[in-house]
Amino acid sequence: MRAVYPGSFDPVTFGHLDIIRRSSALADELIVGVLINRAKTPLFSSEERVKMLVDATKEFSNVKIEVFSGLLVDFARQCGADVIVRGLRAITDFEYELQMAQTNRIMEPSIDTMFLTTSLQYAYLSSTTVKEVAAYEGDISHFVPEKVAEAIHRRIAERKTGRGVQ
Ligand code: ADP
Repeated sequence: MRAVYPGSFDPVTFGHLDIIRRSSALADELIVGVLINRAKTPLFSSEERVKMLVDATKEFSNVKIEVFSGLLVDFARQCGADVIVRGLRAITDFEYELQMAQTNRIMEPSIDTMFLTTSLQYAYLSSTTVKEVAAYEGDISHFVPEKVAEAIHRRIAERKTGRGVQ
């Protein structure tokens, strides 16, 4: 089974890594798809997000990191994927995820969406809250790998002085 796990990963958190660990144990091959979304202004460029993911997933031999833009089903088709993996945290994730899974299933009936429910210790965790805590110089070591935490603090400091990616 070849699975695709898409997301923004801006940046990768322990919640994402938990889904990657669990789904890579179920699939023969897992492709993590980093979305280039021009509608959002990310904290990190897609190249930076890929680098952080490559580093954080190097212990998993069947995990590959790729970037994509456009429709998820097109990317999943290109990858030859059987399954799309998504993580579910609270009920707030559910409505959007259900709608997306059903839409994708109409567009590509041969690719199913597989949901993994969050591990309880990461139920609250999102890239957005990590960035908010970091913006107030809070401790984010419980949420992201050390190198990612350093990169976030560095980028926020650059932003405050008017440097860094836009
Ligand atoms: P998106 O911008 O598509 O929401 P994210 O990078 O925020 O992308 O998340 C990608 C996927 O990982 C989504 O399916 C999301 O529900 C899941 N996810 C994010 N954080 C967690 C977490 N703490 N526990 C479980 N799943 C998570």
